[in-house]
Amino acid sequence: MVMQLHNTLTRQKEPLRLLDPQQKKVRLYTCGPTVYDFAHLGNFRAYLFEDLLQRHLEARSYDVDRVMNLTDVDDKTIRGARTQGIKLAEFTQRYKEAFFADCKTLRLRPARAYPAATDPENIAAMIEMIRDLIEKKHAYQAEDGSVYFRITSFADYGKLAHVDLTEQRPSGRVQSDEYEKEQIADFALWKAWTPDDGDVRWESPWGAGRPGWHIECSAMATRLLGNQIDLHCGGVDNIFPHHEAEIAQCECVTGKKFVGLWMHCAHLMVEGSKMSKSAGNFYTARELMNRGWSGRELRYALLTVHYRIPLNFTMEGLEASRQALARIDTWSERLQEFAAMDTSIQTFEKLGPIDLGDFFNALDDDLNISAALAVLFDVIRESNRLIDTKKLSPAEAGGLLQWWKKVNEVLALEPDVSVTIPDEVKMLLAARQAAREAKNWSESDRLRDEIAALGWQIKDTKNDQRLVPV
Ligand code: AMP
Ligand code: ZN
Repeated sequence: MVMQLHNTLTRQKEPLRLLDPQQKKVRLYTCGPTVYDFAHLGNFRAYLFEDLLQRHLEARSYDVDRVMNLTDVDDKTIRGARTQGIKLAEFTQRYKEAFFADCKTLRLRPARAYPAATDPENIAAMIEMIRDLIEKKHAYQAEDGSVYFRITSFADYGKLAHVDLTEQRPSGRVQSDEYEKEQIADFALWKAWTPDDGDVRWESPWGAGRPGWHIECSAMATRLLGNQIDLHCGGVDNIFPHHEAEIAQCECVTGKKFVGLWMHCAHLMVEGSKMSKSAGNFYTARELMNRGWSGRELRYALLTVHYRIPLNFTMEGLEASRQALARIDTWSERLQEFAAMDTSIQTFEKLGPIDLGDFFNALDDDLNISAALAVLFDVIRESNRLIDTKKLSPAEAGGLLQWWKKVNEVLALEPDVSVTIPDEVKMLLAARQAAREAKNWSESDRLRDEIAALGWQIKDTKNDQRLVPV
């Protein structure tokens, strides 16, 4: 089956056509975080969808070369550093480190490179692109000293977001990096220095200043992946103006089609609104982990709804993820115990009526994760039934475990490396559970303290208690 992916440019599912099909090489660029605060779960929905894409491509033997940028200079980072009275680099470093730690928690496969916008070689590449755009008359320096891209000079401007310039009159210029389709205008490539920028400034042929957000990604993508790339991803809010601008900048410089296929994920929502910093309705991974949720539970909750469907974030959703994972864990433990009874392994393609390849076939269809998970849960149900009725051999259970291993290379949902809980603690925990069920709160508190004295902290959830070593 040929992989089909939804292309935002054509609004259709299309077969994946690569620049280098022989080598099965996929040049993938993913827009990374603006490091002015901790990334929130909405951001991670985008990164998890990209992770699923990368992992599935790899499962299908593609050689994925992925680059993710770090936006470490823009209006928000400069404002943040000024508010705290520290240097921009010191301010952003903190959030870069936090971002990588969260990526690890959520089990994101690392990209090949994480270029930062302020790296000298990237600033140089941006200046070079702007110079070229001015030379080709696609850009100009305005009276305010800033350099702008002239959108009417590029006939294809608007093709990604489906905005028609003949219907919508461009309205002058826009300095800010983020604006709506209604404000369509020449956008800033180089922003002339102002006192608000403090010591954040680079020299350029147009005077001191700093790059606009859009040119950052164009320069870093082409510098690290080449003038043409296969796939480019982000959240839907990146379509306009960010990705529209990226196309304009790159195609005007190179004269070549920049991206083969554009993919965008729908938003993570909270009660009907996009999860965002500005709306204040966001959760960070670390915040939820402090409340007792694990990285893999967050991963499951964000990954298991199709990427083009808006996903509503709720605590009930997290609870459901916990239950689904418990089901998977119980099954894989049972399978492992059963398979251990025989050292031979028998692989097979069909388990009763279920074709095991259908997990991957479902993902070939524009990452249809719901259909892929349906295959997994069918396999769980069917194999449990076959073990119960003694119709599955341990060697077949071994074969099924090998299939699960491949599936899990894509899902990355294995339990965290477990720490051994001493028997004494386990007994106290069971006694506390009984006390909780009997609503004997004073006994429950006493047992909590006793467990704490042995070096274990309890995190209570609605139906459960979890132990964390302190
Ligand atoms: P930013 O740091 O705002 O540039 O966002 C980084 C990435 O997260 C971009 O690809 C955004 O499109 C994506 N993103 C931001 N908020 C959400 C959300 N609520 N749901 C899904 N993706 C989001
Ligand atoms: Zn970008």
